[in-house]
Amino acid sequence: MGNMTTLCERLAVVRANIAAACARANRPPDSVRLIAVSKTHPAETVLEAVACGQLEFGENRIEEAAPKIHEVQSRTTARLTWHMIGHVQSRKARDVIAVVDIIHSLDSLKLAERYSRFAVELGRNVPVLLEVNVSGEASKSGFPGANWQTDPQQRESLWNVIQRITELPGIHVEGLMTMAPLVDDPEKARPTFTALRCLRDALAASFPQAGWGTLSMGMTDDYAVAIEEGATMVRIGRAIFGERQAT
Ligand SMILES: *Cc1c(COP(=O)(O)O)cnc(C)c1O
Repeated sequence: MGNMTTLCERLAVVRANIAAACARANRPPDSVRLIAVSKTHPAETVLEAVACGQLEFGENRIEEAAPKIHEVQSRTTARLTWHMIGHVQSRKARDVIAVVDIIHSLDSLKLAERYSRFAVELGRNVPVLLEVNVSGEASKSGFPGANWQTDPQQRESLWNVIQRITELPGIHVEGLMTMAPLVDDPEKARPTFTALRCLRDALAASFPQAGWGTLSMGMTDDYAVAIEEGATMVRIGRAIFGERQAT
């Protein structure tokens, strides 16, 4: 890495920035969970972060995550929480259910049904977040949700699919996740975060049987703004681990 700071120092900076954003938003500092996104980084680096007190990690590819999780857990007694944050192909659903603690990237009914089936098989009840594309960017995965307030058809299909998902055994909805568009100025990401919070409030009113407390939004370039808009989980990679290796 090209700079002189240590992993522990970078983690401390991120935690301080989270606390400062919470203070600006009149929120308690422990209302935001920091998910350290360790994708592309080896087990060794994750263990270094654990030694600095970081206990929650995010991975986006199960092929990479499963052996890494196995290795890390065999080398520490710390109780870690593993978050699946990337798009998952349905044929990988079983592997995901077998190794992760929470799924942020649930983006189809088909995948929800597969997660449900494997979770029931394994006797698990897995928390999931629904990934919603609230920016309308064509490149983003997630349930379409940019126009639910103006497009009754989009609202109806989103509400229908969520109704079905909340009825599935073995998984339980705890909130929403989104990815903001890549922008040069974090302020430009703010409307995306506001939109996710508004959608969450509407869903909480429609589906009181599910949980809606979690908003997973905000990455290295925009987490302060996301926290001001209500993020309860931020997913941060580069600010902690440095630039990723090309994969
Ligand atoms: C890689 C990734 C992150 C972290 O991005 P950084 O810009 O490195 O903080 C967050 N969320 C998802 C879904 C990712 O794939």
